[in-house]
Amino acid sequence: MNNCLIFTHLLLGPRRCAACQATAGEDGLCPGCRARLAAERLPATGRCPRCARALPTRTAPVACGSCQHDPPPFERVITAGSYASPLRELVWRLKFRQQLHAASVLGRLLADAVRAAGGPLPERLVPVPLHRRRLQRRGFNQSLEIARVSARRLGNLPVDNHCLVRQRATATQSRLARAARAGNLRGAFAVAAPLPAGCRVAAVDDVMTSGHTLRAFSDCLRRAGAGRVDAWVVARA
Ligand SMILES: [Zn+2]
Ligand SMILES: [Zn+2]
Repeated sequence: MNNCLIFTHLLLGPRRCAACQATAGEDGLCPGCRARLAAERLPATGRCPRCARALPTRTAPVACGSCQHDPPPFERVITAGSYASPLRELVWRLKFRQQLHAASVLGRLLADAVRAAGGPLPERLVPVPLHRRRLQRRGFNQSLEIARVSARRLGNLPVDNHCLVRQRATATQSRLARAARAGNLRGAFAVAAPLPAGCRVAAVDDVMTSGHTLRAFSDCLRRAGAGRVDAWVVARA
């Protein structure tokens, strides 16, 4: 431990896990939370290569039935893990307790997942925007905070926070019946500033549940000029 770390340690006490408040290491997580994240990467848990839906077994690299039936406007979803402990707690602390240091941990985990997934990096990251009323209430956009951290760790990729806007305040997706979710997002996003034609972008969001938000958002990114859209989500339900 260098002097600066000893001083911080004496002043603030041991570092606390950003998810559960147990004593944490340099990465902001405790050994238990770190182990839960690592356990998810075991070969028993397969995911659809297109939408990252959890599949019962790690099968051949083919897309799930729903992606084959109705291909999404994004190429692939990269996720740091399931919407379960500790990612669920980290997202909750960030969004509802304004604990912005959780965004550093989440952004780092997402960047690690992107590196592990391989493939070409996008030319810019576009966080899913909040409607301005929700932004005013929360004071920050969690997806932007996460995107900034990931972008820095991946070699300072540009973050574009202005090309699309959320023009309609939509009901919280999780409160709607499945069938109502797609309709709820129709016309939710609009192009504010076109993208360079054909550019590769990554749409960044905190949680992906039904995928309707990311479909609507990716559709709009394509209308804005994107040639390829990847979706990067911290947690996949
Ligand atoms: Zn923990
Ligand atoms: Zn799929």
